[in-house]
Amino acid sequence: MLFPLATEVTEALDFEGNGAEFIDLPVMAINLPNPGAKPLLFYSNRLKQLRHLLFDHGPRAMLGFLKLMRFCEYPAAVMDRFTAGHLPKTIEELLAEAPSVAARDQLKLVFEGSAMDLIEKFFPDPVKHQTFRALLSFAAIQSTYKGPYTPGSAFCLVYTMALNGSGGLMRRVKGGMGSLSEALERSIVKYEGEVRLKQVVKRIVVEEGRAVGVELRNGEILRARVVLSNLDKPATFTRLLSEENIPPELSAEVRAIEHKGAWVHLLFKLKGLPEYGGEWEGLNHDRYARFGGAMVPDPDQMQASYDACGRGELPSHVPIAFQIPTVVDPSLAPEGAHIASAYGFFFPCDAPDSERGKLRDEMAEQVIDRISRYMPSFRDLIVERAVFSSDHFAAMHGATNGDFTHGLIHPEQMLAARALVKGSAHATPIAGLYLCGASCHPGPGVTFLPGYGCAHEVLDKELR
Ligand SMILES: Cc1cc2nc3c(=O)[nH]c(=O)nc-3n(C[C@H](O)[C@H](O)[C@H](O)COP(=O)(O)OP(=O)(O)OC[C@H]3O[C@@H](n4cnc5c(N)ncnc54)[C@H](O)[C@@H]3O)c2cc1C
Repeated sequence: MLFPLATEVTEALDFEGNGAEFIDLPVMAINLPNPGAKPLLFYSNRLKQLRHLLFDHGPRAMLGFLKLMRFCEYPAAVMDRFTAGHLPKTIEELLAEAPSVAARDQLKLVFEGSAMDLIEKFFPDPVKHQTFRALLSFAAIQSTYKGPYTPGSAFCLVYTMALNGSGGLMRRVKGGMGSLSEALERSIVKYEGEVRLKQVVKRIVVEEGRAVGVELRNGEILRARVVLSNLDKPATFTRLLSEENIPPELSAEVRAIEHKGAWVHLLFKLKGLPEYGGEWEGLNHDRYARFGGAMVPDPDQMQASYDACGRGELPSHVPIAFQIPTVVDPSLAPEGAHIASAYGFFFPCDAPDSERGKLRDEMAEQVIDRISRYMPSFRDLIVERAVFSSDHFAAMHGATNGDFTHGLIHPEQMLAARALVKGSAHATPIAGLYLCGASCHPGPGVTFLPGYGCAHEVLDKELR
């Protein structure tokens, strides 16, 4: 799913001019709670959305949702999630700058509270508000290592709910997210840049305290005026640099960052489009309702799963995000066939190495079982599957502990805490070396903002 891109980014990179195509989504997401509760759909048509909230979930739920959105506006604005090239502030600065006691209390709840502290304010009834409580809890925890009742989880909920100032809706990229990287490559080549793919950087070359290039695995050395690393901080500083190049306090700071990957990711080839069954059967009338969303248990069950995860055990109730992208992009599979993906959370990533392969496969079965509860034909339609855990992500992409967020969305790791040098969002204590990926503000997601911000900082400081 592509979040709305910042206007500056779209203008600078001209994805469409470089061959990328975007697909609008009539139904951006469907959220399926435990049996007995109603599904919640997110339509891109505003009127349809309001009608769905009002008539299917009732005026109280609709009002609760609108009030929650309203509540999030101020903290989300100070988080600056979608603004290009801004210097992030510290939590302390933001609290001190709050214009009133009420505003400060609002920020404190977001920075210190649990997701459920926030959700209970707007959706207090565990039965009537079951769907909203489940969905919002999942939104709060899926880029953290926390349960919805764990202090600090409110932050990620507001971060997820933050709206891009330029507006816009969630979309798909035709052919998959990689098409954006290909468009970016074409744009670079157009400006006479060179892109080398599948090249492993073995080390960053430092001479007299300054980064002056990189050495590739094949031994080739590329010299440069500035080096930008898109890797997370431990990967950059502890794998690509040797100890003597790093100040000891930086070493300690980097090692203290919480990087965990409590997830499994499944990819499927399907020989047909699965249908909803049982109490969900009525959803089949809108084909787009099968595009994707979340299948989420109640917050208490998620908290129990988080606790289990901490003990190295499989979750009792696995929350999942799922997608069948061929519903909107048939170019991804031969006619009649489909592909699907699922992301299951609370994989016990701290279990001993020797157990994690078995746990991953067991969790994959849990994920398929959960999808099959809503779409009974799902398992029989599987032609082939691939199962990845965060361990694969660590091995294949060099992400520390398989953490795709490059530093979990925990309040103490966000905003100014993502920066390493005062007054800069991207500089490092090593001259000539900058960070340009998700480990910088505003953090993870395919937004291009860390790269955009870094490029501008480097242009200003080093190349003008
Ligand atoms: C299963 C899953 C689903 C997701 N879904 C979404 C979604 O729907 N929407 C969304 O916005 N975000 C999503 N994300 C998050 C998103 O993928 C990340 O936030 C984003 O990719 C971070 O981008 P990045 O460029 O900063 O870092 P990365 O994407 O981690 O890029 C780092 C790159 O560096 C390469 N690399 C590592 N070491 C070396 C080396 N030594 N030499 C050379 N290259 C190296 C890696 O191979 C990798 O390509 C998802 C993540 C996962 C894991």
